[in-house]
Amino acid sequence: GEALAVSARVAPLGSRLVLLLVEDLTEARRIEAVRRDFVANVSHELKTPTGALSLLSEAVMDASDDPEAVTRFAGRMQIEATRLTNLVQELIDLSRVQNDDPLEDSESVRVDELVAEAIDRSRQPASTKQITMASGGTADLHVWGNRGQLAAALGNLVENAVNYSPARTRVGIAAHRVSATGGDLIEIAVTDQGIGISEKDRERIFERFYRVDPARSRATGGTGLGLAIVKHVAASHGGEVTVWSSEGQGSTFTLRLPEAGAGRDRTPTGPDED
Ligand code: ADP
Repeated sequence: GEALAVSARVAPLGSRLVLLLVEDLTEARRIEAVRRDFVANVSHELKTPTGALSLLSEAVMDASDDPEAVTRFAGRMQIEATRLTNLVQELIDLSRVQNDDPLEDSESVRVDELVAEAIDRSRQPASTKQITMASGGTADLHVWGNRGQLAAALGNLVENAVNYSPARTRVGIAAHRVSATGGDLIEIAVTDQGIGISEKDRERIFERFYRVDPARSRATGGTGLGLAIVKHVAASHGGEVTVWSSEGQGSTFTLRLPEAGAGRDRTPTGPDED
C-alpha cells in the first residue's frame, strides 16, 4: 500500500488515476473475498450443530423403547442447541460492534464494574475447574466508551483465560493508567497460566473463526468469534488489544482504552449548539 501510494503521488495525473483505480479494485476484491469466506464459515459452523440435532432427533425416535438412551440423546441435543445459541448470539454481537458507532452512545465507565461483570460471567466454569480469579488496581479508573461493548470485550478475554487453562490455576486481571501522546490510556491486562499460543497462531487468533484447536474450542462452547469482537471493540474505541504468550506457560491479553475525562467525556459544543 505504502509503495503504491508513493508512486501514485509522483506519477503524472493520467497514470495516477489508473493507479488509484487499480488500488480500489484490489481493495474491493479483497473485501469481497473476506465476505465470501465469512459466509462460507458461518454456513459451515451452522451446519455442524443443526446436522447433529437432526441426527440426534432421529436417534431419539428410534430409541423410544429405551428410556436411558433417550435421556442420553436428549442431553447431547441440549449441548448442540447451546452451541447453536452461542453462535447466533456471537454473530449478533459481532454485527453490532461492526455496525454501531460506539462513540454515539459513550459514557464514563468504571473499570471496577467492568471487571466485576467479566469475572461474574465466568464464575461458573471457573469454579468447576477450581480456577481462582483475582483483580487489582481497578479502583478509581474510568474508561470512555460504550458500556455494553466494553463489557463484552473484557468478558470474552476472561472467558478465554478460563477456557484455555488447566484446573487449579489462576486468572488475574490488573488495571492501571499509562500516559500516551493522545491522552492517558487505561490498560486492562488479563493473565492466565494456561496452554499459551504459539507465535504463528498469535498472528491469526484475532481473525473471525480462527481457532488453534477447533475441537477444544467447540468443547468449551467457543465460536472462534470472541477475539474478533474484542479487536473490533478496542479499535473502534481508539484503543487496541495485544497478546503476550509463552506456550505451556500462559498468556496475557492487554486491552488499552482511552481514559474518561481529558476532554473526551464532554459533549463537543459546535457554534450551532449555542
Ligand atoms: P473461541 O470461541 O474459539 O475461544 P476466540 O476468538 O475467543 O474464539 O479465540 C480464538 C482462538 O484463540 C481460540 O480458539 C484459542 O485457540 C485461542 N485463544 C484465545 N484465548 C486464549 C488463551 N487465553 N489461551 C490460549 N489460547 C487462547
